[in-house]
Amino acid sequence: MTTSATIDYQTLEAQHSSGVYAKRPLTIVRGSGATLWDDAGRAYIDCAAGHGVANLGHCHPRVVAAIQAQAATLLTAQEALFNDQRALLLGELTAMLPAGLDRLFLCNSGAEAVEAALKFARLATGRTGVVATMRGFHGRTFGALSATWEAHYREPFQPLVPDFAHVPYNNLAALDAAITTDTAAVLLEVIQGEGGVRPGSAEFLRGAQALCRERGALLLIDEVQTGFGRTGRLFACEHHALEPDMLVLGKAIAGGVPMGAVALGQRVANITPGTHGSTFGGNPLACAAARATLAVIQAEGLVAQAAAKGAWLLDQLAALPTQRVREVRGRGLMVGIELRERAAPYLQRLQERGILALPAGPTVIRLLPPLVISTEQLANVVQTLNEVLQ
Ligand SMILES: *Cc1c(COP(=O)(O)O)cnc(C)c1O
Repeated sequence: MTTSATIDYQTLEAQHSSGVYAKRPLTIVRGSGATLWDDAGRAYIDCAAGHGVANLGHCHPRVVAAIQAQAATLLTAQEALFNDQRALLLGELTAMLPAGLDRLFLCNSGAEAVEAALKFARLATGRTGVVATMRGFHGRTFGALSATWEAHYREPFQPLVPDFAHVPYNNLAALDAAITTDTAAVLLEVIQGEGGVRPGSAEFLRGAQALCRERGALLLIDEVQTGFGRTGRLFACEHHALEPDMLVLGKAIAGGVPMGAVALGQRVANITPGTHGSTFGGNPLACAAARATLAVIQAEGLVAQAAAKGAWLLDQLAALPTQRVREVRGRGLMVGIELRERAAPYLQRLQERGILALPAGPTVIRLLPPLVISTEQLANVVQTLNEVLQ
């Protein structure tokens, strides 16, 4: 390709991008399934999936076709008007959600969905407090950041939104003590993603739900990372039969097209015209892409695939003959390998051997491959991890 030979993309991008990202020296130009290619034509097995966006793999033909068809039909329609694709998506997605969630607010990212959920919680309860968890991650806008725990994300931006408390994850007694008569919402991940791939215990998650019901607070479950099959259930809530008052969605929802959503239960009242909104929210292009994504998840049995492949992967990783691994955690194809040392050099070695993975905190290697990853590719990932962790 002449363009890649003549343009130095990395220099151009480094010169003109904001600086908020620590970049890896790799230029990705194409993807298919669980494979990405760089500008020199080298293939990589993608265990990052755009931070858990590409559950269907890259450029799934049904999603591509839906986007192409909708792009030629209608790209934008404000939510003050009805739209065929939006109506169909609302019907199809609510039919797949945990019991009691039958309305959706549509937006464009995970953080926006968290923001909306926090505002709706205040509207519905007339209270202001939010209880979130240590090591929790909910995004980087002010409300979402106020719920996020990690100090280096928060500290440069103080003061944040008031009335947010953080309790240790999986500590039900601490949560019990933190929920007061002013608590509007408890915001939890079912498995903490950015915080190190840490699964919530059934006792903690179900206990949180009971405390919320007892005290009139709303239970907000953030499934931006765990949703849409990632953990071997369509939603990770289903592992514990949770019935959240709001379910926060994003990342994989539209097959790679930017989209976020909040699903709302019966206790979420007082949402009247003008209380919230979004210019791009519910746009026909994202809705058509999301509809195709949901159809593929069902047609290809991707939830069962994630469960089976994930169980195999966790078994293989637990058996790796290495002293460097402290613990292997996860569920489905959301896997964390906690090392006894920093993860960054091992991520670098994996990349040199053709595998892209993610960190989750300083010592955890996180694997979030597309759910369509082949068993051969997964075996390659295990073999390569075995080599680099020797
Ligand atoms: C990624 C993530 C978010 C934020 O989503 P953005 O689309 O980056 O704003 C929120 N919550 C969780 C659990 C996430 O993993």
